[in-house]
Amino acid sequence: MANYDLLLLPGDGIGPEVMGEVEGVVDWLNGQTQGSFNVESDLVGGSAYDVHGLGITDETVEKARQADAVVLGAVGGPKWESIPYEHRPESGLLRLRKDLDLFANLRPAICYPALADASSLKREHVDGLDIMIVRELTGGTYFGEPKEITDLPDGQKRAVDTTVYTTSEIERIIRVACDMARKRGKKIHSAEKHNVMKTGVLWHEVADRIFSEECDDLDCHHILADNCAMQLIRNPKQFDVLVTDNLFGDMLSDEAAMMTGSLGMLPSASLGAEIDGKRMALYEPVHGTAPDIAGQGLANPIATIASFGMSLRYSFNMGEAADMVDRAISNVLESGLRTADIMQDGMQQVSTVEMGAAIKAEMNKLAA
Ligand code: NAD
Repeated sequence: MANYDLLLLPGDGIGPEVMGEVEGVVDWLNGQTQGSFNVESDLVGGSAYDVHGLGITDETVEKARQADAVVLGAVGGPKWESIPYEHRPESGLLRLRKDLDLFANLRPAICYPALADASSLKREHVDGLDIMIVRELTGGTYFGEPKEITDLPDGQKRAVDTTVYTTSEIERIIRVACDMARKRGKKIHSAEKHNVMKTGVLWHEVADRIFSEECDDLDCHHILADNCAMQLIRNPKQFDVLVTDNLFGDMLSDEAAMMTGSLGMLPSASLGAEIDGKRMALYEPVHGTAPDIAGQGLANPIATIASFGMSLRYSFNMGEAADMVDRAISNVLESGLRTADIMQDGMQQVSTVEMGAAIKAEMNKLAA
C-alpha cells in the first residue's frame, strides 16, 4: 500500500473548523487499504503571523515542497488588517503559489442533483453538471509588462496591461488539461481569441499541435472565449475539461462556479510542473475565512473535503477513493442534510462537525 506525505495548513477564521473535517476523512482513509497518509499540520496566514511575524516561514514552504500534496483552508481576517503589507496573511498563500510555481489552477464546477434547484439556471441544464476549468495562473494579462498608468501631455492618463505568453507556458498548461481530460470524460475545449489577439493565435497553434500529436485518445475542440462564455450558459453540460489563459479563466471559472450554488461547495487545486514523477500541488476551497461565521459551527466543510478529494484523484492516483468522497457528499445532500449556507425549506440544518460526520458515515456505507 502506497504511503503519502500530506501537509495540512488550516489557516485562519473557519479554516481550522473545515480542516478538522478533512482530518476526519483522512483518518477514515488511513483505516482502509487504498493508500495511507502521514499527516503534518502547520501555520499559514494570520495564525503564522501571530507566532512567527510572517505569513509563512521558510520551513513551512520547504515542508510544502517536500509533501506529496498540501491542503490549505483559508487565510486572512479583520484581526490582521493593519499589520505591515508585506506580512499580511495573503503573503503566505501568495508565497506558496509562487515558490512552488503553481501555474495551473483547476476549478471544478459540479452541480449536485440535490442542489440543482438552487442554481440560477434551469434544473435540466445543471443537474449532474461536472466541468473542470483549467486556468493558466502565472502568465498572461495579470503579469505581462509593461503594466502601467502614465500621464499624457494633454492632462489625460494612459493605462496599459500587456498579455504575454510563450510557447512553453502554453504547452505546459495544455498538457495538464489533457492529463485531466484523460482522468475524466476524455473531452477538452481550448478557449482563446485567435480572431483578435496575437496571444490567441499562438495559443491556438500550440494547442492544435499538442491535440494532433499527443491526444489521439481525446475528443479535442477549439472555442472562442466569448462564445465559450455564452455556451456555458446555453448548454454547460457540453463541456468536460476547459483550458484557457489567466484572464479568460478568471471570468469563465467564476461564471461556471456560480451555476452550482454556494461558495461553501467550491473546491480548487493549483498544480505545478511534474518533476521526477511528482507534481507540486496545493488544494484549497475557493472561499475565504468567513469571519462573520467563524467559531460558530456554521461553516460548510464540503468545499475543503472536496478539495482533499481532488488531491486523491490528481496527486495520489486514488481515483476510487476520490469517487467515494464525491458520492458520499452527493448522498448526504440527497438525504436532506444542509449547512446554513445551503439550507432549503424542508431540509435539516446541521453544523460543520455534523456534516463531516455524515460524510464519513456515508463513506462507511459505501465501503461496506
Ligand atoms: P469569504 O469567502 O470568506 O465569505 C463570503 C461569504 O460567504 C460570507 O458571508 C461567508 O460567511 C460565506 N462563506 C464563505 N465560505 C463559507 C463556508 N465554507 N460555509 C458557509 N458560508 C461560507 O469572503 P470575504 O468575506 O470576502 O473574505 C473574508 C476574509 O477571507 C478576508 O480576510 C479575505 O481576504 C479572505 N479571503 C481569503 C481567501 C483565501 O484564503 N484563499 C479567499 C477569499 C477571501
